[in-house]
Amino acid sequence: MGEFDKNSALLERSLRELKRLSTFLDHNPNPIVELDRNGAITYVNLAVFQKFLDFTTERNAHPMLTGVMDVVARLWESGEVVATREISIGGDRYEQQISLSLENQLVRVYLNDITQRKHAEEKILRQAHYDALTGLPNRFLFIDRLNQSLARGKRRGQMVGVLFLDLDNFKQVNDTLGHTIGDTLLQHVAKRIESTIREGDTVSRLGGDEFAIILVDLDRSEDIIRISQKLLDIFLLPIQLKNQEIYITASIGISIYPRDGKVSEELLQNADTAMYRAKEQGRNLYQFFSSEMNLKIAEKLSLEMAMRQMLPEKQLLLYYQPIVELSSGKIVGMEALARWKHPEWGLVSPSRFIPIAEETGLIVPIGEHILRMACAQIHCWHDQGFQNLHVAVNISARQFHRQDILQTVGSALSESGLTASLLDIELTESILQSTEFTVATIFNLRAKGVKVSIDDFGTGYSSFSYLKRFSVNKLKIDRSFIQDIATDPDDRVIVKTIITLAHSLRLKVIAEGVETNDQLDFLRAHECDEIQGYLFSPPLTAEEATQCLSKWQYVSDVPPHGRGALLYNVLIF
Ligand code: C2E
Ligand code: MG
Ligand code: MG
Repeated sequence: MGEFDKNSALLERSLRELKRLSTFLDHNPNPIVELDRNGAITYVNLAVFQKFLDFTTERNAHPMLTGVMDVVARLWESGEVVATREISIGGDRYEQQISLSLENQLVRVYLNDITQRKHAEEKILRQAHYDALTGLPNRFLFIDRLNQSLARGKRRGQMVGVLFLDLDNFKQVNDTLGHTIGDTLLQHVAKRIESTIREGDTVSRLGGDEFAIILVDLDRSEDIIRISQKLLDIFLLPIQLKNQEIYITASIGISIYPRDGKVSEELLQNADTAMYRAKEQGRNLYQFFSSEMNLKIAEKLSLEMAMRQMLPEKQLLLYYQPIVELSSGKIVGMEALARWKHPEWGLVSPSRFIPIAEETGLIVPIGEHILRMACAQIHCWHDQGFQNLHVAVNISARQFHRQDILQTVGSALSESGLTASLLDIELTESILQSTEFTVATIFNLRAKGVKVSIDDFGTGYSSFSYLKRFSVNKLKIDRSFIQDIATDPDDRVIVKTIITLAHSLRLKVIAEGVETNDQLDFLRAHECDEIQGYLFSPPLTAEEATQCLSKWQYVSDVPPHGRGALLYNVLIF
């Protein structure tokens, strides 16, 4: 064999060898792409086309090449030759290896499908953290989430609620209908709970028929009550299983961070204890761990229930407390003070029922009723000859915002025929902190001719600059300052200052809660305009108030009220 033949046989063998080797690449089941330094494709194996039917050789046009050149740039910079990362393409997961071939300045991209492995890993993770039956977080994940919620609550100074919910008589369902039905029931319950709690809250199945719930972002304990009630309400409707309707109820125990515990285990334990108490109390209810919370709620609930009877049963009364003008010694007005005459509890004070009325929205009809009654009563006194007597009606902040106050005032005035300027609306300072809405509403009330006073002045965030902005008529100095005038020099300065500044803004000043002659003397000396308090008269029924008015105006030598005798001597000139 000549030299030439030898060489050509060698070449042929090498070519065959090369071809054979290249089939390794071509038929490799994993996608492989080669790029030049500029990102242009120089080789693609068959697996690429088999896996990605939409693959084209256009530069970087496919998701499998997205970002590859950025990685390459980083590799060049760092002097490394291989980088591995995980990417997703159309829901599948791949491990992508990008390597530089330095001698021929090429980039090789290898893909390895790891979708299956990822699914398996996730499944294991789920099994470790989630309940297989309901798909809810299990106890392990629950504690983890609770720890996070507690840390957040601590940072923000917010409460965290832990609810322990246990189905009533679940064992009976299991025993009589079988475990399959029992399991389906639990899945339904899980769904209902999940759709009841708010986003951000967590529900978990601890095991059996026990569920635990974390409530976050709580500003008031009332929020917990509302959600607990909603959770009990999800059992009002039967659970529909195949051909069967199952009625079931639950008992809930509640513990609250930080009052009932600082750490997860303690809170869960205390919620569990409270849940047992709910069972003892007759099931289908919730109980707080702290007994004082339970009392508060029980009282509140019964007040709320009873309050719904207040208007239909005509249990709402108004008492009237005379307002005396110091310069003339005359009764110039009456403050209407609400009273709830309950058939069993007797007279309930407004400071107890007004806040609950505000929360439940009952304040709207109650407030309307009060305004109407007060205007009608004053008008009636005018008819009896007590002219120019004005009436002061309290409107609380939440009432002010909930009710269409302009319309309510308007109709109370037109119904009673009372002159607008004889109606004085008392607002508390907390209203003044808020919005354009308040400014506009006060402005519109004033435009109607209605007077506006600031009640309990000095207890809130009072600021004289607010007063200018809100254009009110009168300040009512809070009782707490008047109380200690005789003994506390600071209070004397405060009262004196309020009077002086109010006068400089052309506002009238009234002192509330005047009980002694010393207080009266001081107020008179500093030219307070009006006073109101037990020294002259406590709040009176409409009848008593009529008597007081007649005696005061016509029988000038008889004190209008026993306790007012001292003042009477001072005031009769
Ligand atoms: P307020 O408007 O500051 O009413 C004055 C409160 O002080 C009344 O309590 C009155 O009975 C009491 N008081 C009057 N003179 C004296 C005194 O010399 N010494 C002492 N210690 N107390 C005196 P009341 O009637 O229990 O009302 C409490 C609060 O409830 C009222 O405070 C007012 O904020 C609210 N309120 C009363 N009626 C209504 C109403 O119709 N609607 C609204 N939204 N709130 C009302
Ligand atoms: Mg008042
Ligand atoms: Mg007051």
